[in-house]
Amino acid sequence: MLLSHQIRLDPTPAQRDYFARAAGTARRVWNWALAESNRQVAAGQKPNAMALKKQFNRVKYSDPDWLDDDGKPWVRTIHRDAHAQPFANLAKAWSRYFDQRCSGQPTHRPRFKKKGRCRDAFYIANDKFRIEGTEAVLPKVGRVQLREHLRLPGRIMGASVGRHADHWYLAVQVEVPDHVARLRRTGDGITGADLGVSAAATLSSGEKIPAPRPLAATLRRLRIRSRRQSRKLEAAKAAAGIQGPIPKGTRLPESKNRTCGARALARLHARIARVRADFMHKLTTRLCRENQTIVIEDLNVRGMLANARLARVISDVGFYEFRRQLQYKATRYGIRLVLADRWYPSSKLCSACGDRYAALALCERTWTCTACGAHHDRDVNAAVNLQRLATGAHAAQTALPVASRAVTPGTAASDGLAGDGKVTPARHEHGQQDGSGQEENAAHLCARFR
Ligand SMILES: [Zn+2]
Repeated sequence: MLLSHQIRLDPTPAQRDYFARAAGTARRVWNWALAESNRQVAAGQKPNAMALKKQFNRVKYSDPDWLDDDGKPWVRTIHRDAHAQPFANLAKAWSRYFDQRCSGQPTHRPRFKKKGRCRDAFYIANDKFRIEGTEAVLPKVGRVQLREHLRLPGRIMGASVGRHADHWYLAVQVEVPDHVARLRRTGDGITGADLGVSAAATLSSGEKIPAPRPLAATLRRLRIRSRRQSRKLEAAKAAAGIQGPIPKGTRLPESKNRTCGARALARLHARIARVRADFMHKLTTRLCRENQTIVIEDLNVRGMLANARLARVISDVGFYEFRRQLQYKATRYGIRLVLADRWYPSSKLCSACGDRYAALALCERTWTCTACGAHHDRDVNAAVNLQRLATGAHAAQTALPVASRAVTPGTAASDGLAGDGKVTPARHEHGQQDGSGQEENAAHLCARFR
């Protein structure tokens, strides 16, 4: 099983400088390769990563674009992996684009990377570096201090050095033998988990897990720092005599003040991301450890993010990340992850009698079933309904037409739900991105945000 461990680095100033230059080279090579492949596509040719790389190798030491002020080729000062890998990445990006376009999914062509807007990272092949205790020996820079040991046993497949705010990290990919990667569960529960915003997750046991909501808590600070930053940008524009939007290709002079401000803003964003990642990992690990089956909703996250009013709350809780982590941890703990169909009315079914309360308003946090008189908490009821998809208990209890209670392994499909409880087994792709469920899902989520 291919796993990755991200370790914080403690580089010296000289090493930081090299990392920044190597990441910049990787970005520039990507942009060169993309421009060249775009040109070839426009000319009716089929670009090929190997051919592009050869073409680059011919110009990289001689073309004036790739020489520094003294006329020396600066690519020589950067290790080869940093400027060879972008070609492989670009080939992957193009084939993903063509696959998605052929299968009718919304997609876009590979994009140019912009300094300060893209992720700064570069690749190192596994035969070019080694890890010795809490030190990594990297090409060109030598020994770099690590904040912790590499925790994963197995064969190292490669690594990349990347930056988050002003910290550098080494992400090491390790092929961990399956019997080592498997982790032991502590329980055999079957849990439905309903994601929301008032509580990050509500479990079918009735437990509500509050989210740390790092973004909400630091939003004020974020606003202040963003505002300061945009004032500095306005000042820089005024000094350069630019009104309105900055014309393409203009580079504003960088003041020290503006650079410092940008760094402070980036640090705050990075901190929020760390708090969120910590919470998410602990939650998904706990769920995988205690259960043999987990049922979650297949929410159309991308469709919901398109709704500007919902985007912030949704990304604050990190719905997509929740599902991604459950998917890979499910393999490690050997559990079954079930995704309920996105049209399954988990909130509207009475978990006691199976009656469907179609008129459930978006703002109702609790409701009483008109058929059996049961009083429900909205989120707990939804979680219980999700859990029942896996157990098939609903079909047994309800008066709905029950064709068969066949629960096929891996799908947990229960026919007793009168056609609106389709269940799909866990999928590893991005979900259906047709956007058709957008409206309904947005409204459905609104309910959770009151
Ligand atoms: Zn009822």
